[in-house]
Amino acid sequence: GIDSLSDLKKLSVLGRGNGGTVYKVSHKQTGSVYALKVLRFGEDDAAATREAEILQRVDSEYIVRCFGVFNGEFPEVDGGGGGGGLCFVMEYMDYGSLHDVLRKKKRLPEHVISCIVRSVLKGLEYLHGIQVVHRDIKPSNLLVNLRGHVKIADFGVSWVVNSGGDHTRCTCTDGSCMGTCAYMSPERLDPERWDGGRCDGFVGDVWSLGVVAMECYVGRFPLIGPGQKPDWVTLMCAICFGENVESVVKMASPEFESFCQRCLERDWRKRRTVEELLSHPFVTNSEINGVEDLVSYIASSN
Ligand code: ADP
Ligand code: MG
Repeated sequence: GIDSLSDLKKLSVLGRGNGGTVYKVSHKQTGSVYALKVLRFGEDDAAATREAEILQRVDSEYIVRCFGVFNGEFPEVDGGGGGGGLCFVMEYMDYGSLHDVLRKKKRLPEHVISCIVRSVLKGLEYLHGIQVVHRDIKPSNLLVNLRGHVKIADFGVSWVVNSGGDHTRCTCTDGSCMGTCAYMSPERLDPERWDGGRCDGFVGDVWSLGVVAMECYVGRFPLIGPGQKPDWVTLMCAICFGENVESVVKMASPEFESFCQRCLERDWRKRRTVEELLSHPFVTNSEINGVEDLVSYIASSN
């Protein structure tokens, strides 16, 4: 195992986010490669602690593995003066995020989307089963490896049901809206749709997955037109009152269109649950050689 952060050598930066940075690192003694997420103290310590708790609790092949949490400084980057942070040693996903995949491939064929969607649904089935709502399902939080595995990552804004706190609020009215709000469900953006607190939030993850699936198909963020500016008002209107799924996924198979419609049902009470979607034909059709399809697809050069 990894005993201390000083056993790790920094190789490169994989991602930089709000309160933290993710490094590719190697274990000096064994040469094994990991991803190290460092969340600085003093940014949002409560959120960092919650992320650590969730990561240490989850145990599923559809969720990125965490091998240890360290409270301290990563000497390779802090040089001793950085003040330190909460550091998560995670399994390294060598094909990056779905966001990176989409940048390279532009758009994905339906059989590949089916395989991705099935993995994410299985991850969500697990999370919802332990009362965790992810709340930030989007391409940059879905990680891929060359063995064709797709895993959910980033529990930075996740919510443990009935753990207290106000989970209905959305606090993004600033410039980072596109990143934080674009995949949010109508009920999260418009508190009136919460129905007096009866919504527990689980189907919000389903909405987000539907947006991701459509984005994979059309090759761009699907809810607003290619020329529209993704500001707060435009996004909010598109999510709460925008166009129908049919007009976005033109030419898709009936199964795919139906799947997207079930996910993007604006009324959360009518939206399908994760369990229901796991037996949707779009998801079950490619079950037989799903992972092989995904491996050969991401390994292909174009
Ligand atoms: P943030 O809270 O900053 O969004 P994430 O956990 O989503 O942090 O990580 C940011 C980015 O770093 C991801 O979008 C991905 O590109 C990269 N990344 C994170 N974890 C891993 C990992 N385990 N393996 C490979 N890349 C990773
Ligand atoms: Mg992220």
